Amino acid sequence: MEQRLAFKRPAPIVPAFWLFLFRMCGRGEGWGWPGGGVMCRDSRDSRGRVRGARGFTGRLLCWYRENARDLPWRRSVEDPYRVWVSEIMLQQTRVEAVIPYYERFIRSFPTLDALASATREDVLRHWQGLGYYRRAHLLHEGVRWMLRERGGRYPRSRDEWRLVPGVGDYTAGAMASICYGEPVGAVDGNVRRVFARWFAWETPLDRGPGMVRLSRAARLFAGWSGDPGAWNQAVMELGARVCVPARPRCGECPVRVYCRGERSGNPAAFSRVRKRALPVRHAMWVWAPLTEEGWWVRRRSVSGLWAGLWEFPGTPCEEGCAKWSLAWSRFQGEAAPRATVAEVNMGEEFQHRLTHREYGFRPVFLRLTGAPRVEAGAATRLVGDEELMALPMSVPQQRIRAWARVCAEASTA
Ligand code: SF4
Repeated sequence: MEQRLAFKRPAPIVPAFWLFLFRMCGRGEGWGWPGGGVMCRDSRDSRGRVRGARGFTGRLLCWYRENARDLPWRRSVEDPYRVWVSEIMLQQTRVEAVIPYYERFIRSFPTLDALASATREDVLRHWQGLGYYRRAHLLHEGVRWMLRERGGRYPRSRDEWRLVPGVGDYTAGAMASICYGEPVGAVDGNVRRVFARWFAWETPLDRGPGMVRLSRAARLFAGWSGDPGAWNQAVMELGARVCVPARPRCGECPVRVYCRGERSGNPAAFSRVRKRALPVRHAMWVWAPLTEEGWWVRRRSVSGLWAGLWEFPGTPCEEGCAKWSLAWSRFQGEAAPRATVAEVNMGEEFQHRLTHREYGFRPVFLRLTGAPRVEAGAATRLVGDEELMALPMSVPQQRIRAWARVCAEASTA
């Protein structure tokens, strides 16, 4: 009879053992399981050097190298011009919104020289819809300054970057650390929130002693990390994707074991954003006047809202916007005393919300006989259809422009 070999079944390894083993790895070698789902070994940094995954900075860098989003500007960190453009565009704006604008901008202005020789209007046209137009003016000014004052040589340190017009503390720190590896911090809203939670800091970090403490900590950690550019980006990435404002996803966080905020049981309580005041409401009549010589448009001032963009003239609504004719005659009296209205078309009111303001626009198409006052070199122009479409305008003005052209076509048909 065939003898059956009898193997003794090994005793099952209890899950508690694996738990113990993983915890040990987490403590000893920087494998991040105890911190929440990160399995990360030594890897290479942005300059090709081998970096360990030990400790706090190692874990975060390791997580960043394995999880960083593939963004167009991250593919060209060796080109300070591209990093500069991206850093300016990313201020107060979401990454997803920036990507198409960045790609189009770089296609049209691939180098410092290309942007410096572009007209302000062309730059604004590439920025229209992205908002905060003052950034476009400052970037353009900064690029021209760089060519004029430094012959196109980029600064290498944060202090030198601070001398460039339009470059503030955050951008200077980001440029110096990402492009040249200077151990300095780059503190934006995400970084502020992440540090506040790591250290359970309750004092406001955007002013006074809290701000000083934060900038010192950001600089120290950037230095300790051994790769300041990647470190600064890693903290921002963590703040944007894991340590988010309302409900931080601590279960996915690579540095959870070090986080005092998480240990407190309520990490979201740290670095709360101050409540925004309710937006102020403004109601406006917007005149879309078509004269015998073209569309009547004007350019906004280069500071303030929609800086330097073109628009149809408008008048604030008074007395509840009841009568357009009263508002128009007041406006016309000053700007176009010889013009008479040959045709009117009232558009529907629409709302446009900004961070601190809410606008209610009431567009009115007017066919005029008799031209308005247009002084040479002034911010007012009469333009043809083609030129009108090429002018950089804000999003609500683009909407009015499209509607006004339909009105004009209907009235000539
Ligand atoms: S609060 Fe949570 S997500 Fe933010 S750093 Fe701490 S553990 Fe990570």
